[in-house]
Amino acid sequence: MSETKPTIAVTKAHAQMLLDFADRQPAGCKRCRVPMPFWGVAPGNKGYWYQPAPPTCEHGCHTLLIELWAKLTTDFTIAPRDPAPPFSGRTKRNT
Ligand SMILES: [Zn+2]
Repeated sequence: MSETKPTIAVTKAHAQMLLDFADRQPAGCKRCRVPMPFWGVAPGNKGYWYQPAPPTCEHGCHTLLIELWAKLTTDFTIAPRDPAPPFSGRTKRNT
C-alpha cells in the first residue's frame, strides 16, 4: 500500500464511476445512472467532492453506487475544484 493516494480530476473520477457501474449494474436495471459529484464545503474544512445520494433502486443500484464511490475515494484523492474566479468581467491572469 502506498502512503499517498494518487490525485485524479473529478471528470476522471466520474468516468471511472461510469465504467465501474456499467460493469456491475444489475442486469434488471436500465434506469440508474451515475450522478455527477458535487463540491461541498463543510464548516471547518476546505471542501470535498460528494456523490449526490442516488435514488433508491429495487435492483440495489444505490447501494452499488455508494460502494463504488467509497472505493474510489479510498483509492484516490479527487482534485479540489478550482476556486471560482470573481465575477468582474475580464481578469488578468497569466497561466
Ligand atoms: Zn437501478
